Amino acid sequence: MNRRTISILGATGSVGTSTLDLVERSPERFEVIGLTAATNVAALADAARRTNARLAVIDDASLLPELEQRLAGIGCRAATGREALSEAAAGEAEWVMAAIVGCAGLEPVMAAVEAGRTVALANKEALVTAGALMTDAARRSGATILPVDSEHNAIFQCLAGSRLEDIARIILTASGGPFRTRSLADMAAMTCAQAVAHPNWSMGAKISVDSATMMNKGLELIEAHHLFGLPSERIDILVHPQSVIHSMVEFVDHSTLAQLGSPDMRIPIAHTLAYPERIATPAEPLDLARIGKLEFEQPDPTRFPALRLARQALEAGGGEAIVLNAANEVAVAAFLAGRIGFLAIAQLVEQAIAQTAAPTPRSIADVLDIDRAARDSVERMMTAVPA
Ligand code: NAD
Ligand code: MG
Repeated sequence: MNRRTISILGATGSVGTSTLDLVERSPERFEVIGLTAATNVAALADAARRTNARLAVIDDASLLPELEQRLAGIGCRAATGREALSEAAAGEAEWVMAAIVGCAGLEPVMAAVEAGRTVALANKEALVTAGALMTDAARRSGATILPVDSEHNAIFQCLAGSRLEDIARIILTASGGPFRTRSLADMAAMTCAQAVAHPNWSMGAKISVDSATMMNKGLELIEAHHLFGLPSERIDILVHPQSVIHSMVEFVDHSTLAQLGSPDMRIPIAHTLAYPERIATPAEPLDLARIGKLEFEQPDPTRFPALRLARQALEAGGGEAIVLNAANEVAVAAFLAGRIGFLAIAQLVEQAIAQTAAPTPRSIADVLDIDRAARDSVERMMTAVPA
C-alpha cells in the first residue's frame, strides 16, 4: 500500500499532538513530510525524530539554531519563515492538517488549498475570516476540505454527500462550557484557570476560553455556513452538556441523523486521516448505558452574548466576521494575561465591530488588513479603559 504523505501545521498543540498520536500508531499508512510549531522547539524536534519528518519549521526565528542542533544528523531540514511554512503546507504532502490556532494559520491554509491538497481543517479561524475566498479557491484547485472540528466532522458524516436542497437545517450541539449554569455575576469574577477547565474536552487555551464565552460556537456557526453552504437561519445551536451527540442534520422529510462518540478529538481526526476509509483509534467506545441520559437545552443569549454577535456578523455578510474573530483573539489573549475580566471579552468584540470598517474582502491581503485594523482598535480600547 502506498503511504499517504502528510504534514501537520501546529504539530505541538492539542490537535497536532492528537494527530501525531494516530499517525505514529500506523507508520505503515502515513509518511510524515513536514511539521511546524510556533515556539516549542523541543517538542517539535522530538516529533520530527520520532516520525522521520523531512522538514521542521519553527515560527520563532531566534529558535532556529536550537532546532538545527536538535535535528543534527537525522536528515530533517530545520527552517523558519513564511516560505518554509508555505512549503510545509503546499509542498510534497498530499494531506495537510491545519491545526495552527487563530488567523496566524490563514496563509499556510490558503497555500495548501490553492495547491489542491486534501486539507484537514481544525483552524476554524481561517474559515471564519476567509471562508468565501477559501471555498472558491478549493473549487478552482480541486482541493478537498475535510472538517476536523467535531461538530462539522459530525455533520459531514451525517450528510454523506446529500444534496443541499434535501437538508432542512443543521443543528450544532454545544457543551455550554464550564460556565453553563453560572450567573452573570459569577461569570464576571471568573479566573483564567476556571475558564480553561472545560468539563468534557481537553484543548488549547484559546479555544477553551472561547468555549467558556460560547464564542467557539459562534465561530462554528460561521464555519458551518462556509463548509456546508447553508444560510444562518438554517443553522441552529443546541446545548447538550454530555457532548455525546456531536451535531445533527435534519432533512426535508424530518428525518434527523446524528453522529455520536466519546469526546475525544482523535475520532474526528482519524476520520479525516483515513478518509474515505476508517482506521482504529484508542478513543473510548461509547457506552450509552453507563452515560444513562442525554440532555438538551436552548442556549442563553443574555449570559452568552458572543452567540448573538457571531450570528449578526455572519448575517452582515461583509468583513464583520474578520473583525469579530480578530477582536476576540486579542481580547482572549488579554484575558489569559490577566489584563481584562471575563465579561469584557464579548464587550470588546461588540465595540470593535461597531468601530471598525469591514468591507467584503476580495483577497487574503484584504482579510489581513481588516484583521490588523480590528486588533489595533481593541488594543486602543483596552489602553483607554484599563481593567
Ligand atoms: P493549541 O494552542 O494547543 O496549539 C496551537 C498550535 O499552533 C501549536 O502547535 C502552536 O505552536 C502553533 N501556533 C500558534 N501560534 C502560531 C503562530 N503564530 N504561527 C505558527 N504556529 C503557531 O491549539 P489547539 O487547541 O490545538 O487548536 C488548534 C486549532 O484547532 C484552533 O483553531 C482550534 O479552534 C481548533 N480546534 C481545536 C480543538 C481541540 O480539541 N483542541 C477542537 C476543534 C477545533
Ligand atoms: Mg468544535
